[in-house]
Amino acid sequence: MADTADVIVVGGGVNGASIAWALASRGVGRVVLCEKGALASGASGRSSALVRMHYTNETDARLAFASFPIFRHWTELMGGGPSVFTHTGFVNVVAPPYAEHLRRNVEMLRRIGINTVALSPGELRGLEPHANVDDIGAAAYEPESGYANPADTVEGLRRRATELGAKLLQWTPVTKILRRESRVTGVETSTGRIDAGAVVVAAGAWAPRLCREIGLELPARVKGIDTVVVTRPAELARPHVIFIDNVQGSYFRPESGILTIVGVPCQDWDLDPDGPLSLPAEAPAVGAQILTRRIPAMEGATLARGYRAFDCYSRDRHAILGRVDGVDGLYLATAFSGSGFKIAPAVGMCLAELILDGRAKTVDIEPFGLKRFAEGRSPEGPFTYAPRRDQTER
Ligand SMILES: Cc1cc2nc3c(=O)[nH]c(=O)nc-3n(C[C@H](O)[C@H](O)[C@H](O)COP(=O)(O)OP(=O)(O)OC[C@H]3O[C@@H](n4cnc5c(N)ncnc54)[C@H](O)[C@@H]3O)c2cc1C
Repeated sequence: MADTADVIVVGGGVNGASIAWALASRGVGRVVLCEKGALASGASGRSSALVRMHYTNETDARLAFASFPIFRHWTELMGGGPSVFTHTGFVNVVAPPYAEHLRRNVEMLRRIGINTVALSPGELRGLEPHANVDDIGAAAYEPESGYANPADTVEGLRRRATELGAKLLQWTPVTKILRRESRVTGVETSTGRIDAGAVVVAAGAWAPRLCREIGLELPARVKGIDTVVVTRPAELARPHVIFIDNVQGSYFRPESGILTIVGVPCQDWDLDPDGPLSLPAEAPAVGAQILTRRIPAMEGATLARGYRAFDCYSRDRHAILGRVDGVDGLYLATAFSGSGFKIAPAVGMCLAELILDGRAKTVDIEPFGLKRFAEGRSPEGPFTYAPRRDQTER
């Protein structure tokens, strides 16, 4: 006989785990999450997990703003477990032609309630005396932001969701989403069928393939994300603020102790998420160039390690969230496009509200709905920055 659930979540990354936690927190008795491997074995486990709120569109900023207190007060809100958040401060820097856009975005973010200010290059230099600001037009500073520990975050969500009655099944692939006419009826898994009236696809890079099998094409592709980690020289032992460097299309952040994580632009599309992943030989040198251009004293840094990961990118580089028109009971939380960690707590709350109340209230996620692609809409705001070369489709 098949098992039954109220809601099935497919995928045990940070977003699937958050959705299970939020549903269980709302009192849903039978939440089952199926994860084909170990929890956090997709993008989430390798995420750099920057927890900041600077965005050029209001919906993402609101999701990040609603998530921020949860990261900061994690232990209290999750009923125990280790803290997952490290405070560092954060800056987003742009080239001179985008300085006015940045100031307009900072105004928008401050209207939401986000603690951020625009800095001149000289003020940035005061904050980070080692920074080269010659090619910078302005910086947005968030004094309270930082980064999270990705594995501890997913584990905290797992523990709390389980305490509240959810079942999180690892090593349990969903092989098929089941539907009868225009209604979802459950899923087929490697260990049998589970019947449910609601299924949430939070399957990261595997979501397009899973959805294609039921005739649903997601406008999304899998792209590689390359990262190198360096040991800072002794004179830079004190952790620096996190940089998103729009001038160079990259970011870097401190990691516990004396390490710094650097994002290396990667233009490899349509990776097989089940295939082997290897970091290109040139990635450490590219990472070193990025880092030393912004912090010249990093010339003395040494390579600690590097790795390739991936995420699912939608056509407009924003998440796909919400119900699927024409398939009652099917919900999507995917295609986070390289930036779905910091917003995961609010994504969980919004999906739970959508399923239980018919509408997300924490943040209106309608701009992220699948139908925007057919309607030619994008959630992007009016004041964008230089296009990211690594996110240009080939
Ligand atoms: C190197 C790197 C750096 C990043 N840095 C940041 C950052 O600084 N800030 C930020 O906000 N975001 C960042 N991101 C992006 C962010 O980490 C991802 O957007 C987010 O983790 C996606 O979470 P997810 O739960 O949607 O997907 P995933 O973590 O990929 O989880 C999906 C899960 O679904 C499972 N699954 C797939 N198919 C099935 C199936 N059929 N049955 C059962 N289970 C299935 C997979 O095994 C996987 O565990 C980064 C990503 C990477 C890779």
